[in-house]
Amino acid sequence: MAEQESGQALDAAFFIRWLTACAAAVEREASRLTDLDAAIGDADHGSNLQRGFRAVAEVLAKDAPATPGAVLTLAGRQLISTVGGASGPLYGTLLRRTGKALGDAAEVDRAALADALGQGVAAVAQLGGAAKGDKTMLDALEPAVDALATSYEGAARAAEEGAVATTPLLARKGRASYLGERSIDHQDPGATSAALLVTTLAEIAGQAPAAGSGQ
Ligand code: ADP
Ligand code: MG
Repeated sequence: MAEQESGQALDAAFFIRWLTACAAAVEREASRLTDLDAAIGDADHGSNLQRGFRAVAEVLAKDAPATPGAVLTLAGRQLISTVGGASGPLYGTLLRRTGKALGDAAEVDRAALADALGQGVAAVAQLGGAAKGDKTMLDALEPAVDALATSYEGAARAAEEGAVATTPLLARKGRASYLGERSIDHQDPGATSAALLVTTLAEIAGQAPAAGSGQ
C-alpha cells in the first residue's frame, strides 16, 4: 500500500480535496483547539482556523486553480488575509511557500510534495523565529515533513507524536511564552492543529479519488 501510494500522482483536484477536508476537520475540532489555546494562549485558535479554512474552502469551491502550486498559493493567501492571529500568517506562509516550490507542475508525487513542504516549513521557522522544541506548530510540522519522504501514514504518526511531545515543553515563542513555566504540562494548540492537517493529508491520500473528479 505504501509503495502504491508513493507513485500516486497528486493533481490540483487532490489538493482541493485535502484543503476542503481540512476545513471540515477544523470545524469538527475547533472547540478542542480553542480549549487548548485557552490554557496557554487567548482561546481563539479554533475560531481563527475556522474563519481561515472556511474562506479557503469557499474560494476553492468558486475558483479551482489548475495546478497544485496555484491551489496552495491561493489557499495560503486566503489564510493570511482572513486570520488575525499568529497562526494565519504562519499557516499562510506554509502553504504559499510550498505552492511556490511546486511551481507550475500539473501533477506532483509524494517526494516532490515532501521537498516543497520542507521549504514551506523552513519559511515558517524563519517568519516566526522558532525552532523545533520551542513548543509551536513546528514541533509537529518538522518531523512530519521528514517522515513524508517515506510515507503519508508515517507523516501523520510523526505529526501526532510531535504534538503530544509538546506537553512537557516550556513555550519559547508566541503567546504561550508569556506564561513561562506555567506553559508546561499543556499540549500546544498550533502543534495540535498541524497534526490535524497532516493526518487529513494521509486520509485523503489513502482514498481513491471520486469517479469523475479528475481535472
Ligand atoms: P495567537 O497566538 O495570535 O492567538 P493562534 O491562537 O491562532 O494565534 O495560534 C497559536 C499557535 O501559533 C501556537 O499554539 C503556536 O503553535 C503557533 N505559534 C505562535 N507563535 C509562533 C512562532 N513564532 N513560530 C511558530 N509557531 C508559532
Ligand atoms: Mg490564540
